[in-house]
Amino acid sequence: MEILYRSTRSDTAPITASQAILKGLADDGGLFVPTAIPHLDKSIAELSAMSYQDVAYEVMKLMLTDYTEEELRSCIRAAYDDKFDTPEIAPMKRAGGAWYLELFHGSTIAFKDMALSILPHLMITAAKKNHEDKEIVILTATSGDTGKAALAGFANVAGTRIVVFYPKDGVSSIQKRQMVTQEGDNTCVIGIDGNFDNAQTGVKRIFTDAALRARMAEAGFLFSSANSINIGRLVPQIVYYVYAYTRLCAGGDIREGEQVNFVVPTGNFGNILAAYYAKQMGIPVHRLICASNSNKVLYDFFQTGEYDRNRDFILTSSPSMDILVSSNLERLIYHIAGDDAAKDAGFMKELAEKGAYRITDEMRAKLSDFCGGYASEEDTAAAIRTMYENERYVIDPHTAVAASVYGKYQAASGDVTPTVIASTASPFKFESSVMKALGKSVDMDDLDLADELSRIAGVPVPQAVAGLRGKAVRHTTICGKEKAAMQAEVERFLGI
Ligand SMILES: *Cc1c(COP(=O)(O)O)cnc(C)c1O
Repeated sequence: MEILYRSTRSDTAPITASQAILKGLADDGGLFVPTAIPHLDKSIAELSAMSYQDVAYEVMKLMLTDYTEEELRSCIRAAYDDKFDTPEIAPMKRAGGAWYLELFHGSTIAFKDMALSILPHLMITAAKKNHEDKEIVILTATSGDTGKAALAGFANVAGTRIVVFYPKDGVSSIQKRQMVTQEGDNTCVIGIDGNFDNAQTGVKRIFTDAALRARMAEAGFLFSSANSINIGRLVPQIVYYVYAYTRLCAGGDIREGEQVNFVVPTGNFGNILAAYYAKQMGIPVHRLICASNSNKVLYDFFQTGEYDRNRDFILTSSPSMDILVSSNLERLIYHIAGDDAAKDAGFMKELAEKGAYRITDEMRAKLSDFCGGYASEEDTAAAIRTMYENERYVIDPHTAVAASVYGKYQAASGDVTPTVIASTASPFKFESSVMKALGKSVDMDDLDLADELSRIAGVPVPQAVAGLRGKAVRHTTICGKEKAAMQAEVERFLGI
């Protein structure tokens, strides 16, 4: 079955997967969604015997149908290799009554590596397939993790350039250090005087500026996106939910067909949407538990059916989830509206104009797979501490938000369904918050703190952090949070 991709906001003709990956965002500002969700065509037993790479192929071939087997396998081979520090790629760890699916074993130690180590390969292949000879300019807004993972993926990839905007005061010290030391002549990293939502809005506006697009084309450039608005980010993320389920079957922890819950620490709603797609593809899922930090706009949405971003933006210890406009929720809205672009466009117009919209009761009824929860800063620190005290397992603040939400969910529901928690970052990436939660001193240099954490956690300092020692800062630009200021930086970098 051929799967095509159409915009969530209009009924323009659908395009192929490779075209959607190249474009990133639809011209009308909508997100690309698949015209159908295919069912897995290999049995759980067959998938349970496969490597991560082979599971990746079995999942991705169903969604990216215009890629040949050879193309997909070559992208997968190039992505999931020894850049990951374990051959399992996404190992699972049993702790605190759940399984932690560790998605942080890639080169930048956050789950963004799971998709961003393959996206550049999918994109270059897409350019070749579509005879696209322009240079691809990746524009990215980051709350800290996407930026570095995208930089690592695209640095020195011929035929591409990458520009990353991050909130200058909204990322961890290690995250910032990782980005500003990025090498590669095709990379550009800019801090903005604003928050992640400002960065994301600016990037979307630059993207949908038709006049700019025309000038870019004349100069031989084409914009694309490495954010999870790009369907090429989402599809590789479905893989590890299928993989996690089949590992539990292979290990005899669950029976084939038995349901599981997935708890996902959520910001832009990309990771949990991938879990939703995995369920549609045939993975037996009971609940998708959406865990938020104090920016609990999604929790409120699941409680009330109203999405309302009119509130203060709170800087937390889980900065990659400090988001008030969760882009990928739009894909879910489109699906629960009955794949209705006109309805979705209406809600998104309300969101842009009033900062809020309310879905219908009929749509709410289709959200029964989901359940929302949130963790305060105290809850998050307590979850880190408890996990360490009980299990000697150190988790990062994002994962701790999920752990805390799961604890509250279990207490309230009594649900005993086996549960997998997406562990989205290494504690070393947020070492200062982690060490504070553990009651340790943080009064030292980043890299010395990493050594301390290593001693406490009993795991070596990851190369992504150890390798920062002595690295020169290469990117120092800071700009305003308005589209015009951001665009001026992009134009300067491209020389147009
Ligand atoms: C990006 C990120 C999240 C949020 O994922 P979304 O797909 O944006 O919902 C959670 N934790 C970490 C560590 C992240 O980097």
